[in-house]
Amino acid sequence: MKKLLLLPVLVTTLVLTSAFIPQNYEIGKERNSNFSENIQSVIEIESSMVSTEEKMEEKKPEEKKFIKWIEFNPSYQILGRVQKAHVKLVSKGITDIGSCEILAYLALKNSNRFNIKADTKNLSKLMKELESGNRESIDKYEDNKYFKYYVESYHAVLDGIIDAKSGTIIGFHPIAKGFWHTGYSDFGNSRTYGFKRRHLGHDLYGGVGTPIISMESGTITELGWNRYGGWRVGIRSEDTKRYYYYAHLRKDHPYPAHLKIGDKVEAGQVIGYLGQTGYSSKENVNMKTKAHLHFGMQIIFDKSQEDGNGEIWIDVYNICKFLSANKAKVVKDTETKEYSRVI
Ligand SMILES: [Zn+2]
Repeated sequence: MKKLLLLPVLVTTLVLTSAFIPQNYEIGKERNSNFSENIQSVIEIESSMVSTEEKMEEKKPEEKKFIKWIEFNPSYQILGRVQKAHVKLVSKGITDIGSCEILAYLALKNSNRFNIKADTKNLSKLMKELESGNRESIDKYEDNKYFKYYVESYHAVLDGIIDAKSGTIIGFHPIAKGFWHTGYSDFGNSRTYGFKRRHLGHDLYGGVGTPIISMESGTITELGWNRYGGWRVGIRSEDTKRYYYYAHLRKDHPYPAHLKIGDKVEAGQVIGYLGQTGYSSKENVNMKTKAHLHFGMQIIFDKSQEDGNGEIWIDVYNICKFLSANKAKVVKDTETKEYSRVI
């Protein structure tokens, strides 16, 4: 009987959030997954977002609730406009509505299909209201479970990029200031080395040796050779919600010599050099494609999401474009040949 009651709820939530259909395949780590398992995980998220009494009864008491899937869709233009709106609100003394709350509001309005024209219009309308002291549009969502889901998701993605309190940009572009790079929106494209899988990051093409910058402060949790990523560095944010993956680093001299697992790094610090290593179980081998940085961001709410089918990787293309406005200036030490940030 309970199952019958739940069915329409599941169907409705799946339709409502069809934008969450996952592209959750592989790159950061060596693993595979299949589509039906991912569909199942979407059903689990959606049903976990439905906190009806019926559902609560069905859950085992020890089952933990956490977000199981995020599709991060705002364009860099919208991110820029929302971040500026956030700073403006803070200057007007409104400190509880920031970038994440505004994005959540827009995502509810556009069903997570961000559209520059409609979103800009909705943003202007909201700002006009808020600046005149009318908070109704946001306050009415206070107890809305989707609004809460979006707010929590956006905080998990953006807390190292946009300061949640002040609205200022605190994240750095992964390529140092003054170095050329190019790339396109390539998240989810298929890759065939090893096994068929999806591309869970963004490739930034540039010159070999270009200094790579840590987007956020954190701790180095992975450093060394991986058969897919080649020489790579993995950094976990202080709040542990984000894992940043920088791969295909330079042959022979992939990162500053002193770096090691466990080191704390600062946002803006040089943590590697662009190269073209990887796609080989043998260490220090260049792959045949063009030199580029593979940059990935994984969101982790629960230990079970660190590895395997529960991994959430974000499309970072728009975040990188947004952070083009904040690049770290670096200088080369002619003796050690290492670059470091100029503050
Ligand atoms: Zn890549």
